Amino acid sequence: ELVQEQLEDLRSTCTAGGRMLLPGEEVVSYYPPEMARRAEEFGLAGTNVDGTRWEVGDCHVRFPLHSISKVFTYGLALEDNGLDETLRRVGVEPSGDPFNSISFDDVHHRPFNPMINAGALVAVNLIKGATREERVERLLERNRAYTGNPDLAVDEQVLAEQLVSNDRNLGLSYLMRSLGMLHGDIDDNLYVYLAACSITVTTPELSMMAATLANGGVNPQTGVRALAREHLRTVVSVTSMCGMYDAAGEWAHDVGIPAKSGVSGGIMGILPSYFGLGVYSPGLDRHGNSVRGVAVCRELSARFGLHMFADP
Ligand code: GLN
Repeated sequence: ELVQEQLEDLRSTCTAGGRMLLPGEEVVSYYPPEMARRAEEFGLAGTNVDGTRWEVGDCHVRFPLHSISKVFTYGLALEDNGLDETLRRVGVEPSGDPFNSISFDDVHHRPFNPMINAGALVAVNLIKGATREERVERLLERNRAYTGNPDLAVDEQVLAEQLVSNDRNLGLSYLMRSLGMLHGDIDDNLYVYLAACSITVTTPELSMMAATLANGGVNPQTGVRALAREHLRTVVSVTSMCGMYDAAGEWAHDVGIPAKSGVSGGIMGILPSYFGLGVYSPGLDRHGNSVRGVAVCRELSARFGLHMFADP
């Protein structure tokens, strides 16, 4: 109850007590226009590795994973191909660039990391399956294991909207194929990537996904393994270095929790061996990270001493 009180307090601190956008917030154009009205939504949830859960705010709202899906896609790519082959195709270096930047590691002839779009498109390229539907289904199954929700699905409307405003990812894909970094059918690959981006979750489900990673890859509620143990270290370390794009350094300094954000306003925070954090609030800063999400994580980290490198 003390925790609940603290959380309510955090919520009002980080949402300016109410329902307006903070300075610097904007709802990114990926959304259909009606999303502007949802800019004030805010959800915060945590799941401990023992399965205990706490939540505050709009925790029933579903939102698309967008870039947070890159973490789980990368995990499956590693399982499908092994570490060596995956590393050959996509690196583990933070690029310091925005998520949609057109930049490559020219020395190794691959995208810098799987958390920016270029690298995620290659990770999707590594997902096995005879058809695009089969590849989506395999990704969905994994995402279901992380959340523990067997009904997890792709939001077809979100997918359709993304498919028609996709020039940059399309351009990036053609460029990468011409450079030999991406193979096969580009439309199929983009479809699978955008379908993964369009999987919708609630904030508590997002916290469960994070808790599964915090719990060594095993969902703490269902006991089902979602990620092979041998790849956990790779997935979490790459997430922690690259998950917040060109704000990753500032995040590491101020918050100190491995985390991944998406343009729907979600942030997933992983505290290895302790708990998983889910935050959702659609107002974004110029990096494409949730303004209130970042604010509440800063505050949480400070109040509860969660920074990885803070004085114990
Ligand atoms: N679906 C978005 C894209 O491909 C995901 C980007 C994000 O969440 N940063 O551009």
